[in-house]
Amino acid sequence: MLTTVPAFDRIGEENAFAVLARANALAAQGRDVINLGIGQPDFPTPSHIVEAAVKALRDGHHGYTPATGIPALREAIAADILARTGVETSPDDVLVVPGGKVTMYAAILMFGVPGAEILYPDPGFPIYRSMIEYTGATPVPLPIREDNDFAFDPDDVEARMSERTRLVIVNSPANPTGGVTPPADVERLVRILERHPTVAVLSDEIYGRMTYDGLPHASLGAFPGLRDRLILLDGFSKTYAMTGWRLGWSLWPRSLIDKARKLAVNAWSCVNAPTQHAGVAALTGPQDDVERMVAAFDERRRTVVERLNALPGVTCRTPKGAFYAFPNVADTGWAAKPLADALLADTGVALIGGPDFGTLGEGYVRVSYAASKDRILEAMDRVDGFLRSRAAA
Ligand code: PLP
Repeated sequence: MLTTVPAFDRIGEENAFAVLARANALAAQGRDVINLGIGQPDFPTPSHIVEAAVKALRDGHHGYTPATGIPALREAIAADILARTGVETSPDDVLVVPGGKVTMYAAILMFGVPGAEILYPDPGFPIYRSMIEYTGATPVPLPIREDNDFAFDPDDVEARMSERTRLVIVNSPANPTGGVTPPADVERLVRILERHPTVAVLSDEIYGRMTYDGLPHASLGAFPGLRDRLILLDGFSKTYAMTGWRLGWSLWPRSLIDKARKLAVNAWSCVNAPTQHAGVAALTGPQDDVERMVAAFDERRRTVVERLNALPGVTCRTPKGAFYAFPNVADTGWAAKPLADALLADTGVALIGGPDFGTLGEGYVRVSYAASKDRILEAMDRVDGFLRSRAAA
């Protein structure tokens, strides 16, 4: 029997991967599975991005790159940040990473230590809490509430700050709720953070290009006064339908970028070279595919919300960003996880139970509407039939 360090017994999970495996296993048995569980666009990566990677390999870009990323990509990212935030950004502060997740790993490792407190959204992306617990720091949940349209509330941040707070994690547009925090609240958060100058902030803006109904995405990167303690997380997975390529980026305070670089040198060396060239094509090439994908998500969003609200015992706020709906299923009589399990087993529709995103997720399920409209409609028909015919277990 081998004994690992205790930290490894505290590492959590992202249940979306387990549900994906179960859904794939059912599909392999011939079941018609509709996967509204996993959070990835169902569109192919735009072809000019694919071609850039193929060309890079043909041109001999098969070796190591600088740990921080190839200069052309870091320059394109800095230009993108400037265009989206209006704040001048140096490519020297940008780190290219193998997927958006890697930035939260690096940031939480940097500030997590027993005795430290880290604020994180609940319900929220499950890896935040998992990594906080891994480091031995104390996770302090920031409630994300349906009655606030699932936007984070800066007053909740302030109320949970203590002299032990080292890092605050916020996420807008949000997974799993689709909540978007309005600009006025983001500004209010900045004012609160000004009163806590030794606290670092990790702003997960990986869905920043996906807002609807004309709502702007308010980036914390737009506040120059915060740049000396802001870690901005973004990436290509969602915006450019590149989840399996593993390509993300982060903007770091000048005082931390070299520490982040050293972690890269120790852990992953660099992102594979052709993928980085694909990233340059993504940022500098035409953006019409992004616009098309977001428009398609918007249309599906309306469909899925309308259909969810027609299900017995289900109500659903209209999400304002990302590609998730987070319906309230409390009145179905089912607890959320048994409901998700029964739906997959009985109807072949994969969803994720809200508790997989935190204790405040009970009573909700996450529906990823990154699937075709026909499949969404079929899924809703099946869920409707299920809820009308099956009493809660
Ligand atoms: N942040 C949030 C809020 C996410 O939902 C995800 C992926 O689902 C990530 C980060 C990680 O993205 P990536 O697949 O690029 O690691």
